[in-house]
Amino acid sequence: MAPSEGGAVIIVDADSAQAAAVAAAVRAQGHAVTVATTAAEALGCLERDAPHVLVLALPLPDMDGLDVARRAGLLPAPPAVVLVADRFSAEESLMALEADAAGVLVKPVDVARAASLIGRLAERRRRRHEQDEFTEKLRTLSAMTGLITSARDTQAVFNALARAATMLLGARLVHVWVDDPREQVLRVRGTFGLDPEFERPLTEYEIVPYGSGMAGGTFAAGHPEFIFGVRTSPRWKNRRLAEAAGLHAYAGLPLMAGDRTLGVLAIVFGDRGDFSVEEKELMQRLADHASFTIVRAEAREQAERDRARQLLTRARLRLGESLSGRVVASGQPLIVEDIAQDTIQDPDQKQAALRVGYRAYLGVPLKVGGRAVGALGVWGRAPRSFAPDDVALLSAFADQAAVAFEEARLHAETREREREATNLARVTAHLASSLELHRVLDLITWSAKELLRCDAAGVWRYDESRDGLVVYRASGMPIERIAHILVKPGQGLAGRALKERKPLWTRQLSEQLQDDAPDASETAAALGLKAALAAPIVSGDDAYGVLVVYRREADDFALREVTLLSTLADHAAIAVRNARLYSETRQREDENAQLYAEAHTQRERLARIFDSTSDGIMFVTREGRIEAANRQSGDLLGVDADALIGGDLLDLLDDRLAETGAEDGLPLSLRTLFTHTEGGEGDLPLPRLKRVLHWVAQPTTEGGGTVAGLTITFQDVTRDREISQMKTDFVSFVTHQLRTPLSGIKWMLELVADAEVPVEIRSYVADARDASERLINLVNDLLDISRLERGRLEMRPQPTDLGALTTSVLEEVAGLVREHAHRVSVSGVDDAPTVIADPQLLRQVVLNLTSNAIKYTPRSGDIAIRISGVGDRARWEIKDNGIGIPREAQRRLFEKFYRADNVFAVETEGTGLGLYLVRLIVEQFGGRVWCDSEEGRGATFVFTLPTAGWHDVSEREEDPARRG
Ligand code: ADP
Repeated sequence: MAPSEGGAVIIVDADSAQAAAVAAAVRAQGHAVTVATTAAEALGCLERDAPHVLVLALPLPDMDGLDVARRAGLLPAPPAVVLVADRFSAEESLMALEADAAGVLVKPVDVARAASLIGRLAERRRRRHEQDEFTEKLRTLSAMTGLITSARDTQAVFNALARAATMLLGARLVHVWVDDPREQVLRVRGTFGLDPEFERPLTEYEIVPYGSGMAGGTFAAGHPEFIFGVRTSPRWKNRRLAEAAGLHAYAGLPLMAGDRTLGVLAIVFGDRGDFSVEEKELMQRLADHASFTIVRAEAREQAERDRARQLLTRARLRLGESLSGRVVASGQPLIVEDIAQDTIQDPDQKQAALRVGYRAYLGVPLKVGGRAVGALGVWGRAPRSFAPDDVALLSAFADQAAVAFEEARLHAETREREREATNLARVTAHLASSLELHRVLDLITWSAKELLRCDAAGVWRYDESRDGLVVYRASGMPIERIAHILVKPGQGLAGRALKERKPLWTRQLSEQLQDDAPDASETAAALGLKAALAAPIVSGDDAYGVLVVYRREADDFALREVTLLSTLADHAAIAVRNARLYSETRQREDENAQLYAEAHTQRERLARIFDSTSDGIMFVTREGRIEAANRQSGDLLGVDADALIGGDLLDLLDDRLAETGAEDGLPLSLRTLFTHTEGGEGDLPLPRLKRVLHWVAQPTTEGGGTVAGLTITFQDVTRDREISQMKTDFVSFVTHQLRTPLSGIKWMLELVADAEVPVEIRSYVADARDASERLINLVNDLLDISRLERGRLEMRPQPTDLGALTTSVLEEVAGLVREHAHRVSVSGVDDAPTVIADPQLLRQVVLNLTSNAIKYTPRSGDIAIRISGVGDRARWEIKDNGIGIPREAQRRLFEKFYRADNVFAVETEGTGLGLYLVRLIVEQFGGRVWCDSEEGRGATFVFTLPTAGWHDVSEREEDPARRG
């Protein structure tokens, strides 16, 4: 396996020891690895390295891991993502699904297994990228080849070549320079520049003398040149252009045909380093195409010249001494009044004429384009003279005949051209559409035989294991008769064509083969094949075989025929290459399918976890659209889970509530969930389903901190709520019943205290009064709670100074503080924000939190109160270094009657009502309360309140039962 460049793998893990171990194992497999410990670092690496695999160990210290995965997914070539976590709970599974993870690893990580998974993914990703690039190149090349074989205009071909070179190689400018041997210069014949502005100044440099400038130098050198830093090269002429276009590297490839240099393909790049082997190969292929185009254009010109010469020679074919021959030679009318008297004519011909009874002759030339190509003659049976009118009449006939003659010839030639073009087009079209090699080669073999008017044709394939050519396809001869023949490279006609990489022909095939391959010689003789023309099928350095056509006559082959067969052999080479690429592509596709299947299984596994949790889980976009939902969320809401996906959450809930006959409609907290995106939680009663769901929404943020949506979990809390309702009802009932007798007892005890009683009795009475006082307080608390719960407590919201309120509470508890020898510090009292709340209720909040801190902190503790304003919210915080709260208890602290287990050692008395009341009051005024603690290390309680106040309060109905 070849090592990949750059950070092929990025491992993001806050645990650097684990990251290092995995990294070492992946490196050992030959992959470059970058390790990052934070998300910020990882994002930098992602941009820079364009990795194949991203390994994300959750959680990350500075960012949501899912965000990193999402950003990676937006890259032009996204890496495969592997998630690592302690366990894969429902939430992590959802995340893995979200991140399109290709794999998951559970901590502690098995390093060998992890490295093998990562290595496999990296390798496959790399191959897929390569394949994509490759396919793109193939498409462009194939389109260009089509153009080259079909276009008659060489200029268009060169421009297309330059364009293809620019696109395929990422070059800035490409020129095709063609040799003009008469002037000893190179001329630009095709250009393409990424920026037309840079193409323009080139017109100043359309011609360069041999040996001058970059292209001239390459032409003289006769081999490819790769030059970096062109701006400082003395050979670079147009400095202004180089600077304006930021040009840096130059690749010059001579266009070769045999040992002849025809021109130069010059490719100029912006800032870049060395060229890869593949790039150089591609450049060479493009140069080959350009050479081929030039050779073909030359061959066409040559064919035109040949045709002109043939016309001339045809005029001389007739015997100069014949009558018609004289007319053609002179181009003038000829009158012979008496053939018997004529002394110029060839005696044999003369005798022949006289024998048939001809005595007089008038001939006029047949002229095409001013040149005589034949003669039209009339003979008389007696000697006679011809008048000028006779000559004019015959000349008029001759002119008409000449036109018809020329038309017929042109017509025949056009037909021939058409036939060639259609056949070539068929080959080309087939080439592009069919990837079955034997079919394309059959078509090429047959076309070669037909187009070159031969008797047979065959493709000979080079068999590496036998180091020789064997027949692969044949047309016009029985393949089984030649199947046994093996021709070594360099031997016979085909062997030499293969070795020398050029077309060759012979008039005497069997004689040619006699020494090298007697077998083949015999067969050729037996099949009656005499003349043969062979063209090698090569692509780059790769020689596939030879295309051969055979004739039964010992003919020569015209240049046009050699060119045509070479073109067909080139087509065959492309077909071979395509077929190989195709089979490679198929193989890669199979591998990809396998990879996909694996990923699919992983995903299914995650989906099963997602579905198997008892909570309902949904992912909802910012706009409220449900993107994912597990089966339980459907079950809990009483709808089909599949029907949930794609729907609007709020509409759906509205509908559900309307159906289930809820009076209050959707809870406000759920309705406003999407207006601000902090998340939240609350209850959702579904009366007709006789069910209460508790929902918790957590924002899911993406890159840049913007909220992509919310993950909402639903839990069935029907039983919890029922029990809690029963508690409330019971307490409400009991407290009402207790209040009156308790007040009676307290009143009696006060009477007794005032009476004349012995001293020891007096102290019992005082104790009893304290106890009754506490009982009354408890009952009052319970009554407040039950009223607050039912919304039946009178409130007088007004601007309240949190600072002053805190100071007054501290004064009240000063005795208690002294008793415990605590140190209390307060900050922010003087510029404390003003909140709109009922001062008496708020005082209760501050008092409860402060006395808790005093109670649950062992002697000589530190208590710090801090008041501040954050945005439009006031924040009140109390921090102690007391016994703290066990982790599992923290969640339940604000529940009614709840006390953590660790308090009983310190303070046995307590009701578990204080914090519950705190929460009810704070939430009543639109605020929030929470705590943060580590057991044994102290606790911090915080509440926030809006400074703008809460407007709805004054409209509440007054409660006459409110305590004074
Ligand atoms: P109570 O104090 O009567 O038990 P609260 O509702 O005021 O009831 O408090 C509930 C529970 O919260 C307490 O029993 C205790 O476990 C815990 N708690 C409250 N404040 C503190 C604190 N400052 N430090 C440690 N635990 C606390």
